Amino acid sequence: MPHQVTTIIIGAGPIGLELAANLKQANVHYLHFDTGQVGQTISWYPKQAHFFSSPDRIAICGLPLQTQDQTKATREEYLTYLRTVVQQHRLKINTYEKITEIKTLGHHQFEVITDKDTYHAENVITCIGDMHLPRKINVPGEDLPHVSHYFDEAHKYFDQKLLIVGGKNSAVEAAIRCHRIGAKVSISYRQAMFNEKSIKYWLLPEIQWLIETKEIGFYPQSIVKRITPKTVEMESLNGEQQVDADFVLLLTGYEMDTTLLKQAGVTLQGPNRAPMFDDATMQTNVPGLYVAGTAAAGTQNKFKLFIENCHCHVVKIIRDLLDQEPQFVNPLAYVHLKETIPPTDRMPES
Ligand SMILES: Cc1cc2nc3c(=O)[nH]c(=O)nc-3n(C[C@H](O)[C@H](O)[C@H](O)COP(=O)(O)OP(=O)(O)OC[C@H]3O[C@@H](n4cnc5c(N)ncnc54)[C@H](O)[C@@H]3O)c2cc1C
Repeated sequence: MPHQVTTIIIGAGPIGLELAANLKQANVHYLHFDTGQVGQTISWYPKQAHFFSSPDRIAICGLPLQTQDQTKATREEYLTYLRTVVQQHRLKINTYEKITEIKTLGHHQFEVITDKDTYHAENVITCIGDMHLPRKINVPGEDLPHVSHYFDEAHKYFDQKLLIVGGKNSAVEAAIRCHRIGAKVSISYRQAMFNEKSIKYWLLPEIQWLIETKEIGFYPQSIVKRITPKTVEMESLNGEQQVDADFVLLLTGYEMDTTLLKQAGVTLQGPNRAPMFDDATMQTNVPGLYVAGTAAAGTQNKFKLFIENCHCHVVKIIRDLLDQEPQFVNPLAYVHLKETIPPTDRMPES
């Protein structure tokens, strides 16, 4: 027999955890799943990457987030913080258990199937984020072992020829970090120049200088056609070009996997394929199925939802499900319920 619970939360990122702390406090019989570890999305940021959001805005459950040097949190500091939140609230999370299917059986009746078991619930809250799949460039060689869609750490590229494909924040940040540790870096970008709105403002002058002084190679308006074990073939205004590369980083953005929402019957709309939901409650067009966190935005080509303006989702859902106020939430949630305030720092577009 499937296990029966009141509510299932899918996703143990910051917003899923903030919801869980409040369901637990209200004694709701819920289960919480994540396909990986707590903070799985954050765990694949590059090592020592800094958040652009200030610590107070990404703090959850009302628990302050302190950083070592009082500046913005690193990946490592935030993961440490998330683990502390889980311990502080004694949250039980079924980590490494992937939801593979959500079946809508009727009004507030769901069958949730994982890679380990089957569960029945009256409500399902999807906090699954929006960065599941790398945006592929679909060229021969994309799956070769020296090609990756994820920048993990710079050390790997020391004294190596590295071609980075992309021209937004993640590509520029990776290029500067790898150049600093002694990699021979080049960038291939579809556009003629970087869009200043897409890049952290403190990185833009540096990348421009490094390109101007030819410390970093730059292939503007170029399109990668083929990757081989030692070269990358590109087409640009100068015709066809071949660049030597020991490693290739394809930092071309990420897409949301909407499979679960589609299976459950949620309507996806607009170019971002964003789920349809009632803004007052976060309930989708499927009664009993809620969406929270960045998953509410679909694939974000221009970032509109970040952690800091998703705390209000927790208030809306707890009010709708339990008719009460959440006890553990970032105070910013109440500010965002009333107005849109600009993010701490200008958020680079993806
Ligand atoms: C380098 C980098 C820097 C960033 N900096 C910032 C920043 O400064 N500020 C900011 O607000 N945002 C930043 N972001 C984006 C940030 O990661 C997201 O805003 C944040 O993680 C969203 O939180 P969330 O709880 O909505 O979803 P997520 O943190 O994405 O959590 C979703 C969770 O759902 C789980 N999941 C997904 N599908 C399933 C399934 N089928 N079954 C079970 N579990 C599933 C995932 O494993 C994941 O743990 C950055 C992103 C990157 C890559």
